[in-house]
Amino acid sequence: MIPSVFPRSEAQLVTSLELESLELGKVHRLLFDLMDDALGRPIALPLLVARGKKPGPVFGMTAAVHGNELNGVPVIHRVFRSLDLETLRGTVLAVVVVNVPGFRLNQRELDEGTDLNTIMPGRAKGSTPQVYAHRVVQRLVRKMDRFLDLHTASFGRINSLYVRADLDHPVARQMAYLLRPQITLHNQPSDKTLRGAAMGFGIPSVTIEIGDPQRFQPELVKSTAQGVRRLLVSMDMIPKRKVQVGDPPILCDKSKWLYTDRGGLLEVYPELCQHVQRGDLIARLTDVFGEVLREYRAPEDGVVIGKSVNPAGPVGSRILHLGHPAAPDRFVPREDDPNASE
Ligand SMILES: [Zn+2]
Repeated sequence: MIPSVFPRSEAQLVTSLELESLELGKVHRLLFDLMDDALGRPIALPLLVARGKKPGPVFGMTAAVHGNELNGVPVIHRVFRSLDLETLRGTVLAVVVVNVPGFRLNQRELDEGTDLNTIMPGRAKGSTPQVYAHRVVQRLVRKMDRFLDLHTASFGRINSLYVRADLDHPVARQMAYLLRPQITLHNQPSDKTLRGAAMGFGIPSVTIEIGDPQRFQPELVKSTAQGVRRLLVSMDMIPKRKVQVGDPPILCDKSKWLYTDRGGLLEVYPELCQHVQRGDLIARLTDVFGEVLREYRAPEDGVVIGKSVNPAGPVGSRILHLGHPAAPDRFVPREDDPNASE
């Protein structure tokens, strides 16, 4: 094999992020020294910062808060490749990998076994994960005027392209609608997620779930990056382009996960985004000798947001994530129809 050889990106190690001090008209590649590891070496988060030549707001993105959720990384790369720094107004700030220890280990959690997205906004003086979370929020996310957190399904499961957002918040609702996912789920950010922490600081924020963990899915990546460009247009940061976008998303006002009540080998039948009716067969659980233990049926009408693809299912395994379609007049974001412009 003869590899083609290219130089590795030069990146500057920084201990603080002063956006105003970064040169205009340039993309900055930074390694942000968040905290020390046990060797006293920096755990450094890779940042991309595009500083437009014209003044404007700060749009922010984070990827890999869960270390094995990777589709957000090429979304960030794609958005940055598309930026014209001569015409860009304001700053695009992206944390390419938030959970550096988890990313190194191909795992969802931080190396302490803690899910970072359950302890936000962390604590200034606390355990290692609490401090990690606190510094991500205070030193990076709070620099943003609007915020998009890029996720995927978890190990053993697959997701549609779907947005979680507080659809009763006008700006978050507009962001969700402009992203044009397959499904948009109304979800109050009352939990201890990064989105919830950012909303708590007054930063309109949404989460997008981009397909499956531990892989790159080019079509979903492309669609999400186009959605991000529509967000930048809506903030007057990049010029409009006339582009036809796809169908409006299926809006869901709530959702629930369905779980197994016995252990065995699980097969889940509906496809992502499929509508199921109450009583439809959705899954079958077989024992290890091949005999059927359970047939699971939809408890109500709904749409499949995500599902398990891992047959090994102990008691309490997730079967599928069933969305409840909202009444047509429940959310009225029509003024934000992206078909008007990109
Ligand atoms: Zn996630």
